[in-house]
Amino acid sequence: MPDAPPKPARTIALVRSPAKDGVGVYRITVGGQTQFYTFHEIRCDIGGRGFAVHRLGLGTLYHVRIGRPIDCSCECMGFLSRNTCRHVLGMRVLVAKGLL
Ligand SMILES: [Zn+2]
Repeated sequence: MPDAPPKPARTIALVRSPAKDGVGVYRITVGGQTQFYTFHEIRCDIGGRGFAVHRLGLGTLYHVRIGRPIDCSCECMGFLSRNTCRHVLGMRVLVAKGLL
């Protein structure tokens, strides 16, 4: 099997904790490019945890659900085509780090 090309390093960090008023901000840096996302947790009755996420500077709001693999979903095109996306990834990493 040929080696996959190296992926640019991706880092995710919580910039603003949602602890105070429920609104948090995280950033994703890939290959020197940083994008900021705001989010807040929303009620989720169908398994997992729900978040409304949108990239700062863009209007598109995505509803992201995370939990067991079967509980993960997002409304963006990336998730529709690849079954994963930076929104799901970002929220899962923040929860896994114990930040949310
Ligand atoms: Zn997404």
